Amino acid sequence: MSGGNSKLTVAVFAGDGIGPEVTAPCVALLRELMGELGGPVLEFTDVEAGAGLYQRTGEALPQSSLNIAADADAILLGAMGNPDVRYPDGTEIVPQIDLRDYFELYAGVRPVFTAPGMRVPLADPRAQALDLVIIRESTEGLFAHRGEGEETAERATDRLTITRGACERLFDFSFELARQRKAAGGPGIVTCVDKANVLRSFGYFRRLFDERAERYPDIETRHIYVDAAALALVKQPWVFDVMVMENLLGDILSDLGAGLMGGLGMAPSADIGAANAVFQPCHGTAPDIAGQDKANPTAMFLSGAMMLEWLGEPHDVPACRDGAALFRVAVTDAFADEALFPTELGGEDGTSAITEQVRTCLAARLAGR
Ligand code: ATP
Repeated sequence: MSGGNSKLTVAVFAGDGIGPEVTAPCVALLRELMGELGGPVLEFTDVEAGAGLYQRTGEALPQSSLNIAADADAILLGAMGNPDVRYPDGTEIVPQIDLRDYFELYAGVRPVFTAPGMRVPLADPRAQALDLVIIRESTEGLFAHRGEGEETAERATDRLTITRGACERLFDFSFELARQRKAAGGPGIVTCVDKANVLRSFGYFRRLFDERAERYPDIETRHIYVDAAALALVKQPWVFDVMVMENLLGDILSDLGAGLMGGLGMAPSADIGAANAVFQPCHGTAPDIAGQDKANPTAMFLSGAMMLEWLGEPHDVPACRDGAALFRVAVTDAFADEALFPTELGGEDGTSAITEQVRTCLAARLAGR
């Protein structure tokens, strides 16, 4: 925290496509909320990166932007990229993945959170009260050798790497999270998701998980193969608490998790490292709906709430923790009684309508304190 505990700085990468459309209302609501709560001022700095910047300047993620992000207390990101704008080798512009590498953001946190009134795909009433978290290892696994795969006319290969160091910090993060959630009334369970019955690397992942679990006797551990996990997440997602897994498995199951919330526009995320963290919605730039007031900003709002919670932790700032809880509850209030029907899910409510409903609910919660 900078400036004698009076200021927290946030680097804002609004990005491309619908990124700026969901980022602007999130920043506005965060400003309003923290203004009401007192506590440290949130100072937002716009930072340039993305496909649009690459088109204009030939650079997608300048060092000057990285420097601002490195110095900030937190990083808030809309979405970046554009399938039509690519590097000369044909690959897409993904500064969000470069940020993960640069700051070694090893823990991808993907909450699956639903509340009554949200338009979720499962009919069981328990599907409207989900509260589980998928933790995706984000520095290695099948993504470790990104860009290094080999291909001939007859075969193509990629490698999967699991290391002790990356696993230990990932499992510690997962057990600590389960412990925090248990203190708040959660069940205190961490489930290791893998394919240990087939691949040696996943057997190693599981052994390290069991080894690390011994340090957390207060937390229950479970194992599940990834195929069974996909089935269980559709049939009875409410049995899970914290789930931890390799990079690609997390990539896939976190989209399944977003589906359980209704869609990509509902699902928040955070990428956490030892010193930095990026908070962003699970969705991409959705160029098909950009500029039409159709983007669902809910995922961005819930990511903003996660950022406040994270800022509140190390600095012990009650205003941030209270703000996080209020922001999250205002989102659930906004969806209560099926008051909102996002265009994404077939309804009429776009960015402005959802923002105004959340703003009204936030004001009501603030007034009722
Ligand atoms: P990326 O590869 O950049 O992560 P993606 O392939 O996951 O992107 P998105 O651009 O995130 O794709 O979205 C896929 C589709 O889902 C979009 O084309 C859009 O129709 C819809 N969508 C995504 N996010 C939202 C949102 N916030 N609100 C409404 N619709 C959305």
